[in-house]
Amino acid sequence: MIDIKNYNNNNVFAKILRKEIPSKKVYEDEYAFAFEDISPQAPVHILIIPKKPFCSFDDFLEKADDTFILGFIKSIKLINKCLNIKNGYRLITNVGLHGGQEVPHLHFHLLSGDFSKKLVSS
Ligand code: 5GP
Repeated sequence: MIDIKNYNNNNVFAKILRKEIPSKKVYEDEYAFAFEDISPQAPVHILIIPKKPFCSFDDFLEKADDTFILGFIKSIKLINKCLNIKNGYRLITNVGLHGGQEVPHLHFHLLSGDFSKKLVSS
């Protein structure tokens, strides 16, 4: 069962941040790191992660200071600009077991392009 109470320094996104495993980076600033999902579910499927250790969106809202929260959220706009996204996008963050979270480091999925309009794919 996924543990989103205690941050695990060996999760795959922590390793990507430390450059211990490769990723296809699309954007980086002091708050956020964004890279292509290894198993894309849409023509554009980017993962956006904070450059600090938060297990989930809940953990982030509890522990991050307001400057970091604002900076991280604003980076999403900059990523859209960088990717030249013009016709909209979908943002998803899964939290915990019942949210379907697999990697215990907060991440937003940014999906765009001509893909299923269903809220959750089957
Ligand atoms: P979750 O189910 O936790 O919301 O999403 C985890 C996402 O991470 C999945 O979409 C999965 O494809 C992606 N992922 C897992 N391992 C790796 C990896 O090593 N590299 C990249 N780029 N994406 C990964």
